[in-house]
Amino acid sequence: MTLEELEAIAANCTLCSLCKTRTNPVFAKGNPQARLMICGMVPGPEEDKAGIPFVGRSGQLLDKILANVGITLDNVYITNLVKCWLKPGLNLQSDWIATCMPYLIAQLSVIQPYVVITLGLPASTTFLGLSAETRMGSIRGKVYTYSAATKIEVVPTYHPSYLLRKGGESSDDYPKVLDDFELANYILKERERYGKYGRI
Ligand code: URA
Repeated sequence: MTLEELEAIAANCTLCSLCKTRTNPVFAKGNPQARLMICGMVPGPEEDKAGIPFVGRSGQLLDKILANVGITLDNVYITNLVKCWLKPGLNLQSDWIATCMPYLIAQLSVIQPYVVITLGLPASTTFLGLSAETRMGSIRGKVYTYSAATKIEVVPTYHPSYLLRKGGESSDDYPKVLDDFELANYILKERERYGKYGRI
């Protein structure tokens, strides 16, 4: 299946209750040929209106982070764990994540990224199969393997919306997020240089 076909299916998806309140499902932006994927959590109201991920305040901060480490929309494919918007402040239910997961798995199988940066705990714990009690402080700054078969490496980090609540670029955690993006970009460059299986 192509990404266009997948997006067309998502456009008419009624598999969970979030379809009732959405304007547009928010599928992805960036370059489908990129080997770096960023997976956020769930679109907000601006994304719902635009049908494009990360166009609101979190997106503006994400743009700064990307610019800081020299990543452009040409080098990255950006999507979310859940494709339909959720009112800010409401918790993501695990059944919404489970229902939406086939879209993300299909995106992964088409894109075949070398590295995925997961933003925030829901995306990170879902990718890594970790418990909901996991703290970001204990998993960020490290590289994980999504599955041995796919050789997708996962770099979890704080979500821009969390940074915004803590003062944005002045947050103590902001430099850690820059480090995590640098780490992901370094792995990407190594894998692009040495191929799918890295320097073996
Ligand atoms: N937060 C997300 O996780 N995704 C978006 O697209 C926007 C805000």
